[in-house]
Amino acid sequence: MSARVLVIDDAPTNLLVMTGKLTAEYFDVITASNGQAALLAAETQHPDVILLDVMMPGMDGFEVCRRLKSNPKTHHLPVVMVTALDQSSDRVLGLEAGADDFLTKPVNDIALMARLRSLVRVKTMMDELRLREETEFEMGVVVSSAKVEEMSAANILLVEDSKTAAKQIVGTLNKLHHSRIETDPAVALEIAKQQGADLIIISATSDKFDGLRLCSQLRSDIETRNLPILVIIEEGDTPRLARALDIGANDYLSRPVDQQELSARIKSQLKRKRYADRLRERLHVSVELSVTDALTGLFNRRFLSSHLNGLLRRSLGENRPLSLVFIDLDFFKKVNDRHGHAAGDIVLREIALRIGRGIRGVDLACRYGGEEFIVVMPGTDLVAATHVSERMRRQIEDCPVVVGDKAISITASFGVTQAKPGDSQDSLIERADKALYRAKRAGRNRVDAEPV
Ligand code: GH3
Ligand code: MG
Ligand code: MG
Repeated sequence: MSARVLVIDDAPTNLLVMTGKLTAEYFDVITASNGQAALLAAETQHPDVILLDVMMPGMDGFEVCRRLKSNPKTHHLPVVMVTALDQSSDRVLGLEAGADDFLTKPVNDIALMARLRSLVRVKTMMDELRLREETEFEMGVVVSSAKVEEMSAANILLVEDSKTAAKQIVGTLNKLHHSRIETDPAVALEIAKQQGADLIIISATSDKFDGLRLCSQLRSDIETRNLPILVIIEEGDTPRLARALDIGANDYLSRPVDQQELSARIKSQLKRKRYADRLRERLHVSVELSVTDALTGLFNRRFLSSHLNGLLRRSLGENRPLSLVFIDLDFFKKVNDRHGHAAGDIVLREIALRIGRGIRGVDLACRYGGEEFIVVMPGTDLVAATHVSERMRRQIEDCPVVVGDKAISITASFGVTQAKPGDSQDSLIERADKALYRAKRAGRNRVDAEPV
């Protein structure tokens, strides 16, 4: 699918020319000729990137950009501002309004296309993360994320062999951040991998090393794949810039480096990185949380509930057996009473480990409640499931769980059943529970099977 660009310009000729160029590069183009129309299009037409003219009658580009970036529905859309002005103060104004880049008319086509493609790439990755976040929100998983300090000090690695240039850049950086200068790209790569960094600035103008090679290495390495890269290029060296962006640099600066622009670009990269990190972290935590039980690491009840019907339907549909085992620890309350709740937790964790070890990869073991576990065994009939249960029962009985200097003896009771046509997950669990109840009544520490 081609990426969609929203072009905003008050001059019809400009719109026409730009549409032609972008279409030739296989972008999908939509247009707007004033600020109001642009805001509406951004909200309703799902562009992937926005190309925004600065000088427009009525609402100017800066204002459009500010509004786009403060609207939750559009704040994630990358914006490239285009202007006839070539004042550093305007570039900074644009970046501060939230623009992702600022190009000067006449726009160099190679630079523009490379820039758009690079922004679309970043957006695609962010969209993926945002989508998962929404899904998890719908599932009711709420992970409280630590509030992010917007401009807390960051660790910045500067790879630069010119002492004067390095000193100047570091002077600006160190007002807000911690920076470190490296002159050897191999060392820089190691530092980025081992110690990490929040941002790396690489000189691509050095004749002693190849800055773009370092970019490419950083992008291909798993540990540094998400590290924002800012490259420094010679003013007007468009082919090199296009190459840098294609390789995966996130942003660039031209020599001589304007200190205000440097600050603005760093700020926008750090903001985006923190947002992405937060999404990624939330995703990681929420996936674990929504699927597994924190104490034992086995699947949780919710995961079982969302999977059991599917497993059941498949087995019955394919005429293959499926068995379910309900396990409940015996007199577990006494373990807590005698040895304390913390010791009880250790026992639960150890029993969960033994259950997990006693089953096959296709089996699904879950902690159903406090000291209750369920194991689902696809492709296993009642006889085989009873056999496996008996083996697990012995493994629990035979080895007391060692907690500190105590050895706590523990046993468990098992109820086994096999699925039959017409079963739902509730009826299946209910039958296993019935068998478990009989095992308890008959004296505990035993396996009972409920015939089909
Ligand atoms: P029975 O043989 O009849 O199953 O006796 P029981 O004591 O195991 O059964 P009961 O259901 O009366 O008690 C279960 C106990 O499990 C009560 C509760 O304190 C304990 N328990 C539940 N969840 C946890 C947990 O996460 N950690 C610890 N340490 N104990 C737990
Ligand atoms: Mg119980
Ligand atoms: Mg119990």
